[in-house]
Amino acid sequence: MNLIFLGPPGAGKGTHAEMLSKSMRLSHLAAGDILRRNIREGTALGMQARDIMARGELVPDTLVNNMMFAEIRELRAKGAKGFILDGYPRTIVQAQELDKFLASEKMTLSAAINFDASEEVVVARLSGRRLCPVDGKIYHVKNMPPRKEGVCDCHGQPLVTRKDDQPDTIRKRLAVYHESTKPLIEYYAKNDLLRNVPADGDAPAVQKLLEKLFETIR
Ligand code: AMP
Repeated sequence: MNLIFLGPPGAGKGTHAEMLSKSMRLSHLAAGDILRRNIREGTALGMQARDIMARGELVPDTLVNNMMFAEIRELRAKGAKGFILDGYPRTIVQAQELDKFLASEKMTLSAAINFDASEEVVVARLSGRRLCPVDGKIYHVKNMPPRKEGVCDCHGQPLVTRKDDQPDTIRKRLAVYHESTKPLIEYYAKNDLLRNVPADGDAPAVQKLLEKLFETIR
């Protein structure tokens, strides 16, 4: 099964992709995580992406497309069962190029799941989001707190806030979402791949809805 997770930042795409990748044994490819890894490792791509990401803007389509195609090819070579693309595609051009790439690799998409979350909920989620600096595991100060306040459960490291989760940058990322990414809902609806999941609830509630939805996707 090859899935796309769509939705605004803070809709829960990363959290649910992480859970489902384990239970359904799918590979989780999160464009933002891969870009952040490139920044940590100081690659040429990371250097190009760093300031753009800190401003909450989108990294150019060609760079992100090439990065994601290389990841998908690598998964394929390893014989992966399927994937969840999280935060990719984010523009119509990316979606069109992805379609061409998958066709050339004789692969197909099973569904594009739209995490339908309200602005109020996503702002609250993003501003309370904290990360483990070692593996990027996601916490939330209220909704998903670590066992010990401010410290990661697995590595005992102080949790960090993403630079782009500051209030001004959150507003910028939401504006970018409305302008560039939201039109993908229509794009995948036309291709008959769109599935909507109400995503304002807490993680266990949304997870239940997703499991139900997956019974209808093959
Ligand atoms: P995320 O972790 O999904 O919230 O992404 C963090 C940032 O990475 C975004 O605000 C963009 O700057 C960049 N990014 C992630 N995915 C993409 C994409 N598909 N296209 C362009 N930029 C992206």
